[in-house]
Amino acid sequence: MPVTTANLGFPRIGPRRELKKALEAFWAGRIDEGALRDTARRLRAANWARQRDAGIDVIPSNDFSLYDQVLDTSVMLGAIPAPYRALGPQDSLAVYFAMARGTRSDQGGDLPAQEMTKWFDTNYHFVVPEVGPDQDFTLCAAKPLGEFAEALALGHRTRPVLLGPVTWLLLAKSNQAGFDPLTLLPAILPLYRELLSRLRAAGAQWVQIDEPALVLDLDERARSALRTAYAALCGPDSPRIMLATYFGGLADNRELALSLPVDGLHLDLVRAPEQLEPVLDGAREDLVVSAGAIDGRNVWKCDLAALLDRLGPAARARREIQLAPSCSLLHAPIDLALETELDPQLAEWLAFAVQKLEELALLRLGLEHGPYVIADELAANADAIAARRGSALTNDPAVRARVAEVAPDWTRRALPVERRLARQRERLRLPSLPTTTIGSFPQTEAVRKARAEHRKGTLDQAGYDAFLRAETERAIRRQESLGLDVLVHGEFERNDMVQYFGERLSGFAFTRAGWVQSYGSRCVRPPILYGDVARPRAMTVNWWRHAQGLTERPVKGMLTGPVTILQWSFVRDDQPRAETCRQIALAIRDEVADLEKAGARIVQIDEAALREGLPLRRADWNDYLGWAVACFRLAAAVAAPETQIHTHMCYSEFNDIIDAIGAMDADVISIETARSKMELLDAFATCRYPAQIGPGVYDIHSPRVPSTDEMRALLVKARGAFDPGQLWVNPDCGLKTRRWEDVEPALANMVAAARLVRAET
Ligand code: GLN
Ligand code: ZN
Repeated sequence: MPVTTANLGFPRIGPRRELKKALEAFWAGRIDEGALRDTARRLRAANWARQRDAGIDVIPSNDFSLYDQVLDTSVMLGAIPAPYRALGPQDSLAVYFAMARGTRSDQGGDLPAQEMTKWFDTNYHFVVPEVGPDQDFTLCAAKPLGEFAEALALGHRTRPVLLGPVTWLLLAKSNQAGFDPLTLLPAILPLYRELLSRLRAAGAQWVQIDEPALVLDLDERARSALRTAYAALCGPDSPRIMLATYFGGLADNRELALSLPVDGLHLDLVRAPEQLEPVLDGAREDLVVSAGAIDGRNVWKCDLAALLDRLGPAARARREIQLAPSCSLLHAPIDLALETELDPQLAEWLAFAVQKLEELALLRLGLEHGPYVIADELAANADAIAARRGSALTNDPAVRARVAEVAPDWTRRALPVERRLARQRERLRLPSLPTTTIGSFPQTEAVRKARAEHRKGTLDQAGYDAFLRAETERAIRRQESLGLDVLVHGEFERNDMVQYFGERLSGFAFTRAGWVQSYGSRCVRPPILYGDVARPRAMTVNWWRHAQGLTERPVKGMLTGPVTILQWSFVRDDQPRAETCRQIALAIRDEVADLEKAGARIVQIDEAALREGLPLRRADWNDYLGWAVACFRLAAAVAAPETQIHTHMCYSEFNDIIDAIGAMDADVISIETARSKMELLDAFATCRYPAQIGPGVYDIHSPRVPSTDEMRALLVKARGAFDPGQLWVNPDCGLKTRRWEDVEPALANMVAAARLVRAET
């Protein structure tokens, strides 16, 4: 029973975000292509060496990317829409970055970037492939072959990683209505075959082909595409194929996966541990099962003893078993050794990418030679696991007692929405089609500078506060002179909508270098939610009070919702997520109560990430939506009927979750709609959404200033679907990434549009 260790992908951004810095320098023209490629080559070499040093037998190549692995695949296949293709050869950076980021008119082009969307249920964004009926494909194998050869020259015979043809097609969008990208499968299979045979000729014994689509609900079309694809790709000219599935279980696709003539199958045993035995039972004797046993999506140390117990029988029963992370480590921070400021007790419980690989190597030793060869490590691991379980850092009896006390009426407002809205109308006396914004105003150079100086200690607390108060006052004055009806304080004191709250709640820790790629050169540093969540004191009331003290118009209290805080953190894995979310909800509930006590008439609870938390399988949606909605309501329902609760969501697909949105029972919801030209309003209109709604009329993702006419037209369209008394007028999202020079005229036009439409009703 040989046991081997394998990795599915390593973070490419670099421990000090070297890739980010090189990319941004290249885009700004400060370094040339050669220098960018040198940095990339150095990062790859360092990553391979680290993986070998950690004791990994099967090391990936072609997991690196200058921007995104889905875009790499599109370019490799020549799926490049004509306008980009005109910019250079298939493998040129000009084409590649134009697709990723668009071209600016001052650089001689004016192409939009290709659409981006989230990679399965992660916070990583990929560039959506775009294909059409007359699509032609041309293979450019330079990247996978080049990186394989590069590694080989350094002494690593790697296993190249390819995104599988079926998943790639399922993620693609069609440039023509009614066209199904999957029909292009026969056209791309010859390219994959060619690529595989060239990799084999170059010395690759195995390739890893990722088909995460196998953990989704698949229709018969997709299933038959998988059969066709792997019948064509497995053969004597190809290297051996490790088919990788991750982010969930195969479930009803298990028999299909086991029927494919591949040589190996990777399973995510963190998300779906229960699939191990049935797969082993059904697997061909010579199939190499890759056990994705270490969590590639989270930051916790594994339980070594438990994994040895769990995997022992499988290892003994099989000819070969491979140990791997559950998915690519792309989604984990790189190296815990860089965290010098974490509470040492907490640090004991964590494993980042490098540490996860070391765990795999230990696991292999233990499985192959028996636990006694890793006795010391096992003991240390068991100590860490036990310490975490019993620690006062993770258990706060007061929080637990409070959660136990939650009764059903805590999630119900005292009156139904119609009667609440009547009281709020009475109290707020707003014009019809009231105007407002979503919360943040431009985080200018001055704001960022003050924050950086405060962090470094060169600007003291009093000086920083004075600066923020002045900035807030300027924002209030600007909103008054723009004529907005409901104001915001501007969120200048917030670095980030989750981090700000995490820093004020107990149970959260922050890393120095725990960066994870979000898209391209953009990285995020999610907080680590390790313990019970409590709110030692009010978090936002003073800022709200300051702002409201400056104006007669209502200023909204501005909070991030519990589901969004959960979704954008690394969450403890020692209790159900729903339980953790409930604790956050109680903390936010207390903040709502404090804002109300201080006099706030309107409180907005943003749930920007509610939709992205949806499970990949439909069968799991109800459970998730049930607790997610209940948590929002737990936070909101403490408000009296005359206090108006707003929520905000920045995306545009609501059709399939509209009932849950209704069940949140907010008084007002603002959503993103400007780019979709109000299409999504249909969902709200057909379900007769009873509350008020602010469809975004100003696309804040672009520096462009929308005209009064354009926004007026959007409002007229919205008015057709709703009662005039139901509508609010606002941008798509917060304005923190914009400049005042664009924001002021845009908001002036927005207010003018609202006034015009008001006069017409
Ligand atoms: N209130 C937040 C802001 O305006 C909302 C951000 C978001 O929805 N992503 O910045
Ligand atoms: Zn938003």
